[in-house]
Amino acid sequence: MKMRLNYYKVLGCNKDSTQEEIKHAYHRRLLQFHPDKNDAVDIQEFHDVKEAWRVLGYPQCRKKYDAACKQEQLEEQDSPVYARLTPHELEESALEDTLFYRCRCGENYFIERQALRKKNTVLQVMCDGCTLIIIVET
Ligand SMILES: [Zn+2]
Repeated sequence: MKMRLNYYKVLGCNKDSTQEEIKHAYHRRLLQFHPDKNDAVDIQEFHDVKEAWRVLGYPQCRKKYDAACKQEQLEEQDSPVYARLTPHELEESALEDTLFYRCRCGENYFIERQALRKKNTVLQVMCDGCTLIIIVET
């Protein structure tokens, strides 16, 4: 199971955003998630925002990140994708900490509940019985 944080989604901007737009988006998020300003905030989200800025805030790092994402998409194409899902399309399993999704081959994809807690990530899960994968976006 691979996972990568989608930094653009974390900041609320996209691949085509200018550096200036990314900077604004970062400041907006900082205010929104800063623990001093809001005590109902998820500290993990605040850290994600800072992590996203450390990458997207610097054109060199951003370029590397974009290249890594592109590479990942290419690799993804090698394993045929059976389905793209959101977490609530997964089914409850007998195991409390695991969800599953049935594959067309009759086997299942198993996803740990823990892995779905982190927002804005893309999970790739391989089938237990064949070479297909599913992609779950949190
Ligand atoms: Zn399968």
